[in-house]
Amino acid sequence: MMAVYVGLDIGGTKLMVAAADESGRILRRVMKSTPLDLQEGLDLLHSMVAEVANGEPIAGMGAAIGGPLDWHTGVVSPLHQPQWRDVPLKEILESRWQCPFAVDVDTNAAALGEYHAGGEALDPMLYVTISTGIGGGFMTGGQVYRGANGSHPEVAHQSIPYRCANPDGLQCECGLPDCLEALVSGNGIRRIYGCPAEELGADQWDEVAYNLGQGLRNLAVILAPAVIVLGGGVAVGGGERLVAAAEQVMRAYLRLVPAPKVKLSSLGYDTALIGALLVARIGLG
Ligand SMILES: [Zn+2]
Repeated sequence: MMAVYVGLDIGGTKLMVAAADESGRILRRVMKSTPLDLQEGLDLLHSMVAEVANGEPIAGMGAAIGGPLDWHTGVVSPLHQPQWRDVPLKEILESRWQCPFAVDVDTNAAALGEYHAGGEALDPMLYVTISTGIGGGFMTGGQVYRGANGSHPEVAHQSIPYRCANPDGLQCECGLPDCLEALVSGNGIRRIYGCPAEELGADQWDEVAYNLGQGLRNLAVILAPAVIVLGGGVAVGGGERLVAAAEQVMRAYLRLVPAPKVKLSSLGYDTALIGALLVARIGLG
């Protein structure tokens, strides 16, 4: 009997669980909607783990979830899952499944996934996901960069010079008025333009691309990455056109450091799940 590794992508709207072999090849996977209730959510995760493990022993488990969390203790409080507060996820899963378990912020897991499985691994690499909100993970020397006391850098809560047809709609969920997230995230786009990103017109996409380009410019000049990889629903929806337009703005305003390559993630919506499987196999360094 072969041991498997199990990865969990615990999102605010959907749960994805997969089992992989030692090489990372996905053997089985399952997806469900995230229940609002905490206990219901944990019960569902256990049943999804049982389903993908399919009776085989589990050698290790890894999870990706929204922050904030403590990756040392595995206690999580994902912002967009209001009933999940101070949940000892590591303790719960290790006692139920009797195998090592580690959890990281979803965007860190996604950065790890993109770095190891996204094709050409340029280093340092910045991964930015643009969906309901915006977050990022920074890989340097093959390791996830961590802030003081394990804190997670918040790449989207930076001030940028912006263009906005409806400045009255501009309000970041962190409380500040002019964050990148307020202008370019799915929620920010709804507040400013009154529609989801997929319904934006060409002029509105131009503004979003300009603002994204300014945010990338700040990140590029401070971190000097070799590549910036963009993922998440808004980035995937905007596609190559958004990426090219944002890159052009970044380049036009960038001085003194070489312009990083900017590209869309090749892993689509699986980036964090693939990262969680890597966390299951290699742990958190
Ligand atoms: Zn903010």
